[in-house]
Parts: sequence; structure tokens; C-alpha cells
Amino acid sequence: MSRPTRCIVSTAALRHNLEVARRHAPGAGVWAVVKADAYGHGIDAALSGFDAADGWALLEWDKAIEIRARDPARPILMLEGCFCASDVARAARYRLDIVVHEETQIDWIARTSPSECAGLRVWLKRNSGMNRLGFDPGAFEAARERLQTLEPVENLSFLTHFANADRAGAERTSVAEFAAATPGANSIRSAANSAAVLSMPDASFDWIRPGIMLYGASPFGDRSAASLGLLPAMRLESTLIAVRTIAAGACVGYGSTYVAPRPMRIGVVACGYADGYPRHAPNGTPVLVDGSPSMIAGRVSMDMLTVDLDRVPTARIGSRVELWGDHIPVDTVAGHAGTIGYELLCAISSRVPRTTVDSVLLEAET
Ligand SMILES: *Cc1c(COP(=O)(O)O)cnc(C)c1O
Repeated sequence: MSRPTRCIVSTAALRHNLEVARRHAPGAGVWAVVKADAYGHGIDAALSGFDAADGWALLEWDKAIEIRARDPARPILMLEGCFCASDVARAARYRLDIVVHEETQIDWIARTSPSECAGLRVWLKRNSGMNRLGFDPGAFEAARERLQTLEPVENLSFLTHFANADRAGAERTSVAEFAAATPGANSIRSAANSAAVLSMPDASFDWIRPGIMLYGASPFGDRSAASLGLLPAMRLESTLIAVRTIAAGACVGYGSTYVAPRPMRIGVVACGYADGYPRHAPNGTPVLVDGSPSMIAGRVSMDMLTVDLDRVPTARIGSRVELWGDHIPVDTVAGHAGTIGYELLCAISSRVPRTTVDSVLLEAET
């Protein structure tokens, strides 16, 4: 029999979360952000679950070309744009919208023969304080003018990305400045990631770019996905492969970091950090065993983790274990491990088989 560790992805949850995003930004186009293999959920599930999206946004060129083959019509936005000069012709060939965030990327367009890259759709990126990608306010206008003179550039739109959209009110000035720098009825603009979609209605502009919320996790440290009306789209599950009784004072796992406070039962789950479960999840991190709340007891190892079965009298070999999903939010596990849900979702490793279901996770007790 194959190893019981697997990842279940719900297209019904993806579909629901996309609707939530759309409700927050009526009238705006929605780029479904599907970078990093759709935040670990897989491109297949994303293409099906986000069938109502207006376009796709990612930064991996091989995946974008794959999506283009399966979806000839909808726009595809390359969030980091061209990585080399020859990408310019590829963008034209596959009709990929490209972000331009650097002068060098404009040079590449200028150096490409117009016959090789006609019809380019460009999104000029403005730095609004992240200081990562994008033209500074003082250089933005010149970049716009230069792009407008380039023959292959058929369409020029504008984009920015906030550093602090998850902090209430922190980007108010950036929104106003971006709006002022890209005026006119003909400017097509995009600024909002999930946090902005959910909390900054004036940042919706023409196209929103939700990522994490579409997968049913929260972009905020202090607001749960459930409180935002989102449904988890991924369950990471496994089973118990061993159950043992240990004496008071006995230790569990590498480094003996868990010491049994009393005689107790310990369960061994076939899931470890090589599957993408965070090694830093400490004692007390919640898991669900056989439908009952349990928690990590002992250090997470490569292929296994150990749990406290004191409150799960029914637990036995083969009992179902949810590491995260519809009962244990991925954000809760991430909080215990000192990280964010994004990182855990993206880190599911290739050895974990993925199953896609059409129902919501709660109803998918497959
Ligand atoms: C990843 C990304 C997004 C989506 O961000 P979320 O916080 O996941 O919603 C939007 N825009 C850009 C440029 C990104 O890189």
C-alpha cells in the first residue's frame, strides 16, 4: 500500500474564494495569482477552480506557456516580467502581458526587432515604498514616456504592489500617490493583493491581484480566514502508523524535547518536514486525530511527527490525521511555527500526492 500522506485540494473552495474576492471589488477584473504552482495547490486545480477569473498572474515562464496552451484567450500577466532579452519575443509570441520594473527591461524591448515582438502589452510598475521592484516616483514618468515611443508597445498599463496592505491605513498615501501618478480615463491600473482587496476598497482600480485569499488563507496576522468568509482549499492529511504507551518522564523524538508529564499514549503520524510540514512547529501545535483535537508532542522529524493521544481514546493505527485543512487552519499551524500560511502552502513537497475534489473540504471525507 502507498504511504497515506496526501494533499486534498477543493476546487469548490477555490471557486467560492474567487467569488469573495470579486464581491470586494465590483467591476474590477480579477487576475487569479497562480505563481508557485498555485500556492502549492497545482495548476490543474487552479485552472478549474478559477474558471471564472479574468486572467492569470504568475512569474514562471514555462508555466505561463503551459497555461497559454490550455487557455488561448485570457490574459496572462508575468509579475516579474522578462528575465532576459529573448523573453520579449516570447511574450509577444504567447501573448503574455509583461511587467516592466527596470530600465534594463525597457532596453530589451528597444533592442528587439519590432517584427519579432509586435503587440506587446506592458504593465509599468511603480515603486510605492516596498523598494523591491518598480520605478521610483522620480523615474516613473520618464519610463512611461520612453515606453510610449517604442513601436511594439501596443498597450501600456500601470501597476504597483504595497509593502503594508495588511496594516490598516498604512498604505493610504501610496494609493493616492499611485492614483495621481496614473491619471486619465485611459489609464488601466492594478494595485491590490489579497490584503488590499479585503481592506482597501479604493485600491481596487481596474484589476485586482488576489493570491492567498483565493486559497482560503488569511493575509492578515490577526484576522482568520473564516472571519473573512474564506474556505480552506487544501487539506494535508495522513494517518497514524504507530501508537505507543510511554511512562511518566519518558521523552519523545530527537533531542528529547517532549517529556511525558504522566503515563500517556503517543501517536506517530506519517508526515514530516520532507513533506512540507514545518520542522519548527513546537509542542502544542494543533492537529486533528480521528476527528478529535490533539497536538504535537516531540520534535517534527523528516518523515514523521508525534502527537499526544491523551484526548483521543479511539486513536489506533490507521486513524485519520488532519495536519491542516477545514478543522485546523493552515494559518494556525503557521502561527505556532513562527511563519505564515503562504509558506506552508507553497512548501508541500513533490512526494505528497495531490487529489482534487469538486466538493468543499468538509464534505470531502474521501
Ligand atoms: C504574489 C503577488 C500577489 C498576490 O499576493 P497575495 O498576498 O497572495 O494576495 C499580487 N501581486 C504581486 C505582484 C505578487 O507578487
